[in-house]
Amino acid sequence: MNITIFGTGYVGLVTGACLADVGHHVLCMDVDQAKIDKLKAGHIPIYEPGLESIVKHTVEAGRLAFTTDTAEAVSHGVLQFIAVGTPPDEDGSADLQYVTAVARTIGQHMDEYKVVVDKSTVPVGTADRVHAALRAELDKRDLELDFDVVSNPEFLKEGAAVNDFMKPDRIVVGTSSDRAVDLLREVYYPFNRSRDRMIFMDVRSAELTKYAANAMLATKISFMNEVANLAERLGADIEAVRQGIGSDPRIGYHFIYPGCGYGGSCFPKDVQALARTAADCDYEARLLNAVESVNRAQKHVLFDKISHYFQGDLNGKVVALWGLAFKPNTDDMREASSRALMEDLWRAGAKVQAYDPEAMRETQRIFGDRDGLTLCGTKEQALKGADVLAICTEWKEFRSPDFDGIVAALREPAVFDGRNLYEPEMLERYGLVYYAIGRGRTQ
Ligand code: NAD
Repeated sequence: MNITIFGTGYVGLVTGACLADVGHHVLCMDVDQAKIDKLKAGHIPIYEPGLESIVKHTVEAGRLAFTTDTAEAVSHGVLQFIAVGTPPDEDGSADLQYVTAVARTIGQHMDEYKVVVDKSTVPVGTADRVHAALRAELDKRDLELDFDVVSNPEFLKEGAAVNDFMKPDRIVVGTSSDRAVDLLREVYYPFNRSRDRMIFMDVRSAELTKYAANAMLATKISFMNEVANLAERLGADIEAVRQGIGSDPRIGYHFIYPGCGYGGSCFPKDVQALARTAADCDYEARLLNAVESVNRAQKHVLFDKISHYFQGDLNGKVVALWGLAFKPNTDDMREASSRALMEDLWRAGAKVQAYDPEAMRETQRIFGDRDGLTLCGTKEQALKGADVLAICTEWKEFRSPDFDGIVAALREPAVFDGRNLYEPEMLERYGLVYYAIGRGRTQ
């Protein structure tokens, strides 16, 4: 099937590559000329395990191509996926300007039936707006063409995006059109063979499903962080509590890890956008607002611990920082906890020597040659001449480091771990003072 994808970011590129991998003919369109030039030259602009080889072989096989040409993009696919960004507006609501721009583009060029598929995370009612924007363009052209707008939210996780797309837990489709149902069934057939993972519903429910899923996951994290902060004050160990509650199948072990806050391009913006949607219909989303405010505060707990350790005087101190990406296996630093920590440290007059296995280029892009930031090629290099070590991302390579090496390299043998990677007793045996999240020692 011929498919067009608008937006060649994390979602658009993974979607395009995976659909091409199973045999569809996919054209990815983006307004970012530099990104498209890179992709055409064989460079993948993001780090996502497994993606590069799929893009390479599908391009070579002639099933995946890239363009900035809107007319070519619209004429290519009977299915027109929208996978552009929906960043937060000033009031927290989702900014739909990129989504409606694509809808207008489709309306300006289409000359036969199309199914427009909203894959971006968009507030309830967006399909109606896309419909209206597209219809307005057709009216300008005096054309009476048929089209459907479908909601098909994406649930992939950065860092495991290819696997998630290839083996989805569910494929949610919101539509009332039989014609669109048939086309989407056909597109997703290769991903849906062992059991039926497709869940059909009305458009508004599909739009809300995506926000509800992300808000639920964010709630679990903020809940655990709240209990972790309590555990510290009560002399309890959140890791024991986690095991204790996770064993209840009604609770489960998934997604109940405490830490220095959630980041990324989805949870923070989606929780805020859903709270904003609630406010717009005169409902105060008390729980969602609390989830967001717990998380905002949680991003500063490592700094508070470091500051307390140095009795409030961080001027001239050097902090080695392991982990910059918002989570492992990605180079994405949007809303990453590392950024809040670095900003806090710089404000207090400290310097940062940072290392991340994949996000160094992204850090350079965001911060340039900022005073107080040294980018290091290895985690060992980040330790050299540093006073203490802080950890913000649970990359595998940080799980079993050379603890003797850490003791030897640091001026003060203290580790501030925002992801609870280690056993406190083990670190103490090495002579390290260990501060984690919710593990008894407050500061
Ligand atoms: P992204 O910022 O990585 O990519 C968006 C791309 O859209 C950019 O390359 C941008 O240049 C392009 N774009 C903007 N306007 C365009 C236009 N008019 N025509 C064509 N391209 C245009 O974003 P992302 O992380 O891939 O997220 C896309 C959507 O998917 C968002 O709504 C997000 O909430 C949702 N989502 C993201 C994830 C994730 O893990 N990143 C997971 C599920 C859903």
